Amino acid sequence: MTIFTGAGSSTTTTHFIDGRWTDATGPTFPVRNPLDDSLVAEAAAGGAAEASAAVAAARAAFPAWAELAPGARQRLFLSAADIVERRTEQLVELMAVEGGASRAFSTFQIRLSAAMLRQAAGWGYLPYGDVLRSDIPGRTAMVTRKPLGVVAGFTPWNGAFYLAWRTFLLPMAFGNTTVIKPSEEAPLSAGLIHAEILAEAGFPAGTFNVVTHAPGEAAAIADVFFDSPEVRCINFTGSDTTARILGERAGRSLKRMVLELGGFNPVLVLDDADLEEAVKAVTFGAFLHQGQVCMNSRKVYVASALHDEFVSRLAERVSALKAGDPTDPEVIIGPLITDRAVQQIDERVRDALDRGATLVTGGTAEGRVYRPTILTDVPADAICATGQDETFGPLLVVQRFDDLEAAVAEAQATPYGLSAAIMTRDRARGLDLAQRFDSGIVHVNAPTMASEAALPVGGVKDSGWGRSGHYAVEDFTELRLTTVSSE
Ligand code: NAD
Repeated sequence: MTIFTGAGSSTTTTHFIDGRWTDATGPTFPVRNPLDDSLVAEAAAGGAAEASAAVAAARAAFPAWAELAPGARQRLFLSAADIVERRTEQLVELMAVEGGASRAFSTFQIRLSAAMLRQAAGWGYLPYGDVLRSDIPGRTAMVTRKPLGVVAGFTPWNGAFYLAWRTFLLPMAFGNTTVIKPSEEAPLSAGLIHAEILAEAGFPAGTFNVVTHAPGEAAAIADVFFDSPEVRCINFTGSDTTARILGERAGRSLKRMVLELGGFNPVLVLDDADLEEAVKAVTFGAFLHQGQVCMNSRKVYVASALHDEFVSRLAERVSALKAGDPTDPEVIIGPLITDRAVQQIDERVRDALDRGATLVTGGTAEGRVYRPTILTDVPADAICATGQDETFGPLLVVQRFDDLEAAVAEAQATPYGLSAAIMTRDRARGLDLAQRFDSGIVHVNAPTMASEAALPVGGVKDSGWGRSGHYAVEDFTELRLTTVSSE
C-alpha cells in the first residue's frame, strides 16, 4: 500500500499488523490538512481487536528478532535510513499537509531520523555485560542485558515523523518488537509511513505493528497494551496530562514506562551574550514548528543592559518570518494543529494583555495560522508566564532581569525540566550556571531546541524520564544475573 501519494490526493489507510496491511473493510475517520481542512486520508478506526492482534504478532516475532545477529539488524536499519533520505520530497509534503510543518522543520526531522537510524544500526552490539567477582570460591557471576519483549508506543502528532522513529527504533535496536499507536491527529506521519519504510527495508513481519484509531478512541487500545502480559514496557511521548492517566494504568498493571513529556525550556541571555547569536537562537528555539515542539523556549530572561536592543532585534527577525501554507518552501510558520490550539494561544495572549503585558509583535491569526507572538512586561501571574502549564504554540515571554540569581531561581520554578539554554561569551560562566539547572538538557550558546540523534534527549521532573540515544539501553533492556559454580 502507498499511504501518501501527494498533496491534493487522499488515500484510505489501514493498520499494519504482522507484516501486512489489513483489509480496508472497517470504519474509518478523516485525517485533514490543518491549513484548510482538505482531506489527506481516510484512516482505519481500530480498537481492541486490532490492538490484540498487533500485540500477538509482536510477541510471536520477538524471539527471532531478539536472537538476530547484530550485523543483520544493522543492515536493515541502514537500509531504512537510505529509504528515508530517498523519500525526502514525499515526506516533506506529507508533514506539511498532515501536520502543518514547514520545509525547514520537516527537513530537520528527516535529517535527524536518518542519523538516528544510522546510529541505532550499531546498537545491536551494545547490550554487553560484565563478569563480576563472587565471595563464594569457584563461583563466577555474569551480568548480561536482555531485551524486554514487546514495547508498546504512543506517538504524538507534533514532530511526528522523528518522534515516531524514536518510539520504534530505540526498543527495536536493542532486540524488542513494537506496537505503535499513532496520534489520531497525524496517523500517517506518526507511524504509518514508518511501517511502509520498515517493510520496504525488509524488517521481519511482526517486529513493528501500527494500529490507528478515531479521535478520542485511544483508551480501548491503551487498555489492551496495559492488560497484555506480553507488553513489557509502554513508551509514551505526549503531554503530562495524558501521561498521568496512563501512569495510573501502569501502576495497576505494574508496567515499566518511558515518558517523554512537555517542557518550559527557559533561556537566560547574560549581559555578555553575543546579541545577534542570542536573537537567532531564541527565534529558532521559540518558533520552530510554530512553537509546537516539546523543547521550544517559552520564556527568555534577558539582562537589563541588553533587554531593549534584544527585544527590538528579535521582533524584527520574528515578524519577518513568512507565515501561511507550509507547502510554500519559504513559509516558516504554518498552521496550528487544531482550532483548540489556536484558541489556547489566543486566550493566553489575551490573559497576559488583560493583566498589563505589552504586545511586541503577533497576537493575530488568519485561520489557524497564528502570527509568532512576543510579549514583554508580563506579570508573573499571567498563565503564559508562570511556568506551571505548557503553552504549546508560538508565544514567547521576554523578561528583563537585574539579579542573575533571582532569574536562575525563577527560570527553575516550574514543574518541568526538559531543556534550558544560557547565552554568554564566557564559556566557564555558562558551564557553571548549566550545572545548577534541574533539567535533562542544558545548552550553552545554542537554542533549547538543539538536538542531535546520538545525544540523550529526555527530561526530569514532570518532563518525564528515559533518554534517547544509546543511553536508551537502560530503558529498553533489563539485566540478568547468571552465576555458575565450579561444583
Ligand atoms: P497527547 O498527550 O494529547 O497525546 C499523545 C498520545 O497519547 C497520542 O497518541 C494520543 O492519541 C494518546 N492519548 C491521548 N489521550 C489518551 C488517553 N486518554 N488514553 C490513551 N492514549 C491517549 O499529546 P500531543 O498533543 O499528541 O503531543 C503534544 C505533547 O507532547 C506536548 O505536551 C509536548 O510537549 C509533548 N512532547 C514531548 C516530547 C519529548 O520528547 N519530551 C516530544 C514531543 C511532544
